[in-house]
Amino acid sequence: MKTSRPIRARISGAAIRHNYRLVKKLAPNSKAWAVIKANAYGHGQWRALAALRDEADGFAMLECENAVALRESGITQPILLLEGIFSARDVRAVVEHRLTTVIHCQEQLELLLQAGKFEAPLAIYLKLNTGMNRLGFTAANLPRALEMLRQVPTLEVSLMTHFAEADGERGIDWQMARFSKLAGNWSGPRCLANSAAIIRYPATHTEWVRPGIVLYGASPFADQSAADLGLQPAMTLESAIIGVQELAAGERVGYGGTFTAERPMRIGVVACGYADGYPRHAPSGTPIAVMGKRTRTIGRVSMDMLACDLTDIPEAGIGAPVTLWGAGIAGPVPADEVASAAGTIAYELFCALAPRVPLAVD
Ligand code: PLP
Repeated sequence: MKTSRPIRARISGAAIRHNYRLVKKLAPNSKAWAVIKANAYGHGQWRALAALRDEADGFAMLECENAVALRESGITQPILLLEGIFSARDVRAVVEHRLTTVIHCQEQLELLLQAGKFEAPLAIYLKLNTGMNRLGFTAANLPRALEMLRQVPTLEVSLMTHFAEADGERGIDWQMARFSKLAGNWSGPRCLANSAAIIRYPATHTEWVRPGIVLYGASPFADQSAADLGLQPAMTLESAIIGVQELAAGERVGYGGTFTAERPMRIGVVACGYADGYPRHAPSGTPIAVMGKRTRTIGRVSMDMLACDLTDIPEAGIGAPVTLWGAGIAGPVPADEVASAAGTIAYELFCALAPRVPLAVD
């Protein structure tokens, strides 16, 4: 819905393309699944798709119905179902629409083999649990699965795993060692790397990689910024000042009065609150930009509004443009910095963007 309330999430297809190309530069010998699950991390699946339609080697997502819609929209690249199949209907759709599915447990394997007629070759990804302990086969059940798959030569099997700590100190060597042990003398295709591994660990650049967050221009690391990595922010959450208050020293701001003005202050009220997806946990001091100047939020975030310090931006009145995060005309504010102030990660900020915020295309 187009609304005149000034909040917008501006999505840059050019930034998404730039970031995908950066992945391809970092991992030049790998194909890259563009991970567009969760509505492309809140950026709008169809917008991300439009940006990468002619670029991406493949698209990875969750829902089978959604993957079918992609195929029916004319996408010819491989489409990967990251959580696999949930019903016999999914298996029929996988076969009919040439989707690539993860198979992560014996039950899914049996569902696939019972429901499918594999006259034409069908690609599947067997997922191995190497320490994330979420989904995947282990030494206890992998040999049986591989033996069952050997009976169905039309299935083209790749192996994949997911890293739990590629962004942290423990890194990936321990999971790589477990992967090698499980895979034995496997010589088929492998898909291992998420964004963090693509950047830090070239040894994980196998036949395919799976970038997600970097496509959207945020950093997978707490200690390295998106700008340092050469990424461009794909989402700018922008709004405007809709109220201005002059405060005397001692005045408090917002619900609970959590912020007290220590001196006379001028504050602006921004049309953006937690019902728009802005984190309520963002404390006073979270970065925000107004009319090209960086400033800080003040007081508690309300459902529809938040306040910011305009004391040093006297030119900002009603209607002044505001960047909540991203690269807006009001000035840059890295989503990673807002997320870190609020005790979360940019992944969550993006995914939590509320449906009421109109997406605008750059
Ligand atoms: N692969 C799988 C299985 C995932 O669940 C995800 C995201 O959570 C990704 C790849 C992409 O990860 P990232 O966004 O950290 O690159």
